[in-house]
Amino acid sequence: MTAPSPKIRFKQRVRNWATRLDVRVAWLGVRPMRNKWASCSTEGHLNFNAELLNMDEQVWDYVIVHELLHFFVPNHGKLWKSLMRAHLSDYDATEAELKKMAQIKPQAKKP
Ligand SMILES: [Zn+2]
Repeated sequence: MTAPSPKIRFKQRVRNWATRLDVRVAWLGVRPMRNKWASCSTEGHLNFNAELLNMDEQVWDYVIVHELLHFFVPNHGKLWKSLMRAHLSDYDATEAELKKMAQIKPQAKKP
């Protein structure tokens, strides 16, 4: 048996987090995106940037939890930050890393 592809592993990770955070995901997509890492809609649609598949799982967790929490909190305010910290205690380090990577690219990317 060959190991599952990064895309399959990524989607599995999203499903695991969704279960843990009690989010119902109606649609889950991984596709190339121009200027952000992920997007979500109130109908439970989640899309992630395919570029994430080349990154490590620490970054995956950050982007996944970041988006899933938007089902509860639409902004990046105090509540969102405290929930992020509750699930990923060192999320701000990953966030800083991701920002640095985005700055290297010709166009800025935001989660
Ligand atoms: Zn966000």
